[in-house]
Amino acid sequence: MRIIMLGAPGVGKGSQASRIAESFAIPHISTGDLFREQISANTAIGQKVSAFMSQGMLVPDEITIDILAKRLSGRDCQNGFVLDGFPRTLQQAASLDRMLEEMNISIDVVLNISLDDATIVRRITGRRTCPSCGAIYHIDDCPPKENDVCDRCNVALMSRADDSVEIIQKRLQVYYKLSRPLIEYYSGKGRFVHIESAGPIEDTTERVFEALETSLPQSV
Ligand SMILES: [Zn+2]
Repeated sequence: MRIIMLGAPGVGKGSQASRIAESFAIPHISTGDLFREQISANTAIGQKVSAFMSQGMLVPDEITIDILAKRLSGRDCQNGFVLDGFPRTLQQAASLDRMLEEMNISIDVVLNISLDDATIVRRITGRRTCPSCGAIYHIDDCPPKENDVCDRCNVALMSRADDSVEIIQKRLQVYYKLSRPLIEYYSGKGRFVHIESAGPIEDTTERVFEALETSLPQSV
């Protein structure tokens, strides 16, 4: 079972990817995590990645594809994987397809998770995290017992500085511009499922698993 997850920041695609990974016992692979692993292991490639990221530049596709190829050929990927956060552009999708072809594997399904902008903004701006244990709260959907204090650590919760409405809207515009041709590319390949992420996260999970059941071969 090999799955690609597409979706704007804030649609909850990471949480859905984790649930799929857990349920099917396949790794949840995010390029952000792979970069962080390479950097903290201080590999030659990690040093390159770090140089780009510290200058606020995007990591070039060739480097990302290189890291990804190594990760996907890992033993734990034999039964599949959930790819989250890559590809983001049409060019990356084409590079990924070439790489998968060389590895002689194919993607079973591309899940596109979407949500209206107003809800995305509300979800992101309401998000609070605990700087001590990393717990995530939401002021309306999942509030802490005490106002702005972590239930577990009794520490003041934080909201991210770059989560202002203007910045989120700008990020969304960039995302839509890049993802439109990407979505066209995958929907033309007949293994593309669109999932609406409005409402409680459990309802979205239910729709995701329904879609996976109907779009996958019975042999899996
Ligand atoms: Zn905490």
